[in-house]
Parts: sequence; structure tokens; C-alpha cells
Amino acid sequence: MSKLFAVAAALAIAVYQVLPDNPWWVSGWQMTIGYAGVAAILVGARRLPRRDRLPWWCFAAGVAANVTGIGVSVLGEALFQWADLPTPSDPFFLLLYPFCAAGIAVLIRRRESGRNWTAMVDATTITTGLGLLAWVYVIAPAAHGGEISMLGEATQVAYPIGDLIMIAMMTRLLRGGGRRGAPFWWVTGSLAAFLVGDVAWVVVGNLGDLGFDVESHLPVTRGIDSVFLAAFVLFGIGALHPDARLLGAPAGAAVAGLGRVHLVLMTLASLIAPALLAVQLATGEVTNGMAIVIGSATLFLLVVTRMAQLLREVERQAQQVRELARQDDLTGLPNRRAWNDELPRALEHARRDGRPVAVALLDLDRFKTFNDTYGHPAGDRLLKSASAAWHGSLRAADTLARYGGEEFVVLLPGAEGDEARDVLGRALAATPLGQTFSAGVAVWDGQETSDQLIERADLALYEAKAGGRNQIREAANRPAAAAARK
Ligand code: GH3
Ligand code: MG
Ligand code: MG
Repeated sequence: MSKLFAVAAALAIAVYQVLPDNPWWVSGWQMTIGYAGVAAILVGARRLPRRDRLPWWCFAAGVAANVTGIGVSVLGEALFQWADLPTPSDPFFLLLYPFCAAGIAVLIRRRESGRNWTAMVDATTITTGLGLLAWVYVIAPAAHGGEISMLGEATQVAYPIGDLIMIAMMTRLLRGGGRRGAPFWWVTGSLAAFLVGDVAWVVVGNLGDLGFDVESHLPVTRGIDSVFLAAFVLFGIGALHPDARLLGAPAGAAVAGLGRVHLVLMTLASLIAPALLAVQLATGEVTNGMAIVIGSATLFLLVVTRMAQLLREVERQAQQVRELARQDDLTGLPNRRAWNDELPRALEHARRDGRPVAVALLDLDRFKTFNDTYGHPAGDRLLKSASAAWHGSLRAADTLARYGGEEFVVLLPGAEGDEARDVLGRALAATPLGQTFSAGVAVWDGQETSDQLIERADLALYEAKAGGRNQIREAANRPAAAAARK
């Protein structure tokens, strides 16, 4: 259906190029295509769930108003010779902007959860740059035209302002999150076509002022008209597309990265202000000095804001990476890396406070058999539940870490041998699924290094295994000779 409509519309636009030069024919053809676009949007919207229809209705209303403006305009010219701005057709033409902006606003709200400040800053940057350009070349000259009424000036200025609002909403939509299926591109294509058409008319008008009369060349005007005709139907193609519903589908966290194209666009937007100043200086007179000052200051602040956002994001991710690097994936416990940092620090604390500290090495008994019997995933689950159970039976001050495989370490600050064995005994009893562990405990002798302390705990663990498993052994003191050599 969407394809059929697209082909029919393309044919109609092709025929438009060779239509006789008669305002009734031309306007009639334009309106037929335009209302067909509106009908397509409405038909597409009807097929969607009720709550997904609103943005499409906004688009349909905007296009319908614009197309109606064509009819009002041709009638007015023929019957009342309206030519000066504003004509009664202008409100119809202008209604396109608020309706489309509203439609996009609804889409953005549906597609994203929460505020997306980065996308907002990006959209504001682009709009400010182009806004300055529009101000200097379109809005300010129109406002000082002098030949037409106040209302006429306001109307003339309303078009570029409408375009700027559309640009702002469009860049915001493009920079935001959400799915980008075919309907997304049909809709953005349509909005872009309206903008291109408007810009083309401004350019043609300015060329006319400079003495190049391109406006009277039929292929030129027909070509520009066709851009608007395409805009009318692109909405319809998007609405009839089978995936139209996904346009408003909520997406996860928005990714507002900084790709190369994006970076180039932001840079160009920021350079518009100095470029304008350079052009005015070169032509001998700076006519928009204050506007350029305000524009460049705004752009500067926006770029700084964006940089601050990026820096904050980088810092947040760096913090996240640091935390992940110190955590064991399976159990969520501190991993060996974190333990290796922690132990010397704990020994230093103990030295300063003159308090004892003990470490224990735990190793699940016959874990290989458990794995072989119940499977590796069940082994993983046991590692998780056992470490949680042990953690629960340790004292608040104790630290449990995964040393590797089915081996764990415990730091027991303030504990002598007896207390350490008590605590570990409770942990042993808490081991789930009738499993057991063997453990070696070593109380720090106040001199030895972390490695030596662990080594003694490991020897005690070996003895616990050799002694029949399911038990806790306390390490012997370091041989006096070794202690003396230290
Ligand atoms: P022992 O009582 O002597 O300690 O016997 P054991 O079977 O526990 O010891 P062994 O060192 O022979 O086997 C350890 C097993 O632990 C082998 C390995 O496949 C398993 N293992 C190590 N890491 C993981 C893990 O992350 N998940 C699971 N499911 N198994 C693991
Ligand atoms: Mg082992
Ligand atoms: Mg083991």
C-alpha cells in the first residue's frame, strides 16, 4: 500500500512538470497531491493503535492547512487580486509549522524517557548558528523592508522563524534516541523537503533582487513546487509503512555520541558567527554587529556546555570501569585484584592500631565432583549461593573476596586464631547444598609481608585438605630463622 501510493505520487509529480501554465491547473494538481498525502496519513494513522495516532494527526493537520493555503491563495489572486503580504492564505501556510513541531514534540516524548540534555544542547547549537544566518540575511532585512505594513513584515518574518522551529525540532529528533526504521526517515525526509523548499524560495527571491530573474523560468518554479509536493506525500508514505507504529516506540537510554559527521556539523554551526563577521568586514560594513556578538557568545557557551557534558560522561564511565575491574563477575565479590590492593592496606592499618588481623583461604571440597555430577551451571550457582551464605555469616568488618576458581579469601580484622576459627566455623556450617570447604587461617605476626601471610594460610589449607577436608586449620608460626632473616 505504501509502495503503491509512493509510485502513484511520483507519477503525479512527474506529470506536474509538464502541466499547462494555468493557475487553476497548477494549483488544482498541487492540491490533489497534497490532499492525497493528507488522506494517506489519516489512513495510515487509523491502522495504528489509538495512542500512536496523535503525532500523525498533527502532521495531517499541518499538511492539510498548508494545502488549503494553496487553494485560498489561487482563489484570492483570481477573485480579489491579493498580492501584498499578508494575504488570508498566509495563516494557512504558516499553520504547517506549529502542527509539525507539535507532532515531532509528541514523537520525542514517546520515543525517549526523561530529559536528554545532550540532544537538547546539540539541537540548540545548530539552531543558533542557522538562526543567526537567518537573522542576518532574511529576518533583519525583512523587518526593515519599509514598503509593507507591520502585519506584512510580521508575516514575512514568520516563515523563517517557522523554519527555524522546524530545524530545532528536527535536529532534536535526530539527536535523540529511538528506532530509526523506514518511517522515521520518510518523516524526517518530509520535514527536510519543506525546509529545502523554503530555502530555495528565499534564494530565488534574493537572486531576483540581485537582478537574476530565475522566478519566471517555469522549470525552476515547477522544480521547487515539486519539493513541496514531495514533502506532502513523504509523510503519507511514512504513515502507510507497515512499521509506522515503531516511530513512536519507546527506546532505551538515548545514545548521544559524537560521531564525525556530527562533530563537523557542530563545528560549522559554531563557525557561522565569525564567518558572518568576516563577510561583513570584507564588504566594508558590519551591519549586524550586536546579533553576531550575541550569536557567537551563545554558541560559545553551548560548546562549553557540551564539552562539560562529555567530560562528565567520561568520568562516570571511568569510575564504572574502575569498579568493574575490581569486581568478580559471577559472585559480585571483590576479585583478586581488589584483594591484592586491600591486604597490604589492612596490614598497615593493623600495624598502626596495634591490633591483630587474620586471613583465611577457603577452598570448596570436591567441587570438581560437584561440577561433574550436576553440571557446570549448577556449579556456578553453588559458587554464588555459597559466597552469599558465607558473606552472611561473617562479621560486618570481615571482607570476603574471590581468589580464583572455587577459592576464596577472608580478611578478619581484629581477630586472633580462636575468633577467626569461630567465624569460619559458622561460615562452614552455612555452606549450602550439604557442601563443605576446607580452610587455612593465618594470624599476622606483625612482621611478615602479605605474600608470606597468604603463603602460611595456603599451607594450612593444604593440611586441612590432607586431614580429610571439611575443616579449618590454623597455620603454624613462621620459623624463627625465617622471621629473623626478614
Ligand atoms: P578439592 O576438594 O581437593 O579442592 O577438590 P576439588 O574438586 O574442589 O578441586 P580441583 O582443584 O580438582 O577442582 C576445582 C574445580 O573447580 C575444577 C574447575 O572446573 C572448577 N571451577 C573453577 N572455577 C569454576 C567456576 O567458575 N565455575 C564452575 N562451575 N566451576 C569452576
Ligand atoms: Mg582449588
Ligand atoms: Mg576445591
